[in-house]
Amino acid sequence: MRVCFLLFVGFFSIFANAASPNGCGKGQHWVKPHPRRAYYRGDGTYVRATDVTGHCHANPPGYDVWNNKLMTGRPLSWHKEEKTATWTDEERERILEALGDLPAALKDEGIDGIYRLMRAIDPANPASNNFNSIVVYDSAFNKDYNLAHVLGHELSHRLYGSLSEREKDSFRISGKWRLTKPKTYEVGRPKNEFLRPNGMLSPEEDFCDIVPTYFLQPEKLKSLSPRVFNWVNNHIKLWSLK
Ligand SMILES: [Zn+2]
Repeated sequence: MRVCFLLFVGFFSIFANAASPNGCGKGQHWVKPHPRRAYYRGDGTYVRATDVTGHCHANPPGYDVWNNKLMTGRPLSWHKEEKTATWTDEERERILEALGDLPAALKDEGIDGIYRLMRAIDPANPASNNFNSIVVYDSAFNKDYNLAHVLGHELSHRLYGSLSEREKDSFRISGKWRLTKPKTYEVGRPKNEFLRPNGMLSPEEDFCDIVPTYFLQPEKLKSLSPRVFNWVNNHIKLWSLK
């Protein structure tokens, strides 16, 4: 039903604005014609590949802030081995839609920019961050990755860094991380309670997989690990990135 409604709105806006590509209304932006690959939205909805026609599109939440943060070049002092890439129309639309799927609690406007590089030194990474900037690589736009989760993961690193040690301890206890030697933690809960193997690397990686899933696919997290779901649910009100 929702899909039909969106299709209807999409067709209507294409028809209404076909004659005046720059005449989009308030709260809309012009999308140039471009081929779009298939992908998954933040909530897991499949979106098929298509040739997008030029149309006025409703701005997703946060569009005005984040559209100005899609940067060219590379962050300061970034690895020289990673080459810069150019944003395509498809990628800009995808990134801004994915950010729109994420809650305000994760969209820290203190991020100075989102940069587009080609391939990570570690090719398993679809994105990376240096706390102030986020970098997205070619692979982030493949169907294998859910872009809203990818961005939510990187933004959660910044959120984790802003938590007090007491708050981090509380998370580690909830996630059953075991302190084996100073600042070294081992997995203490069953492996099938992790969203993906990456979460088993450290409490911080675990946190950064869990938090976006809490917002984007809450039922999935609740059934996988009710204990960590409840922890996020109880603590989200305390978090502030200001
Ligand atoms: Zn990470």
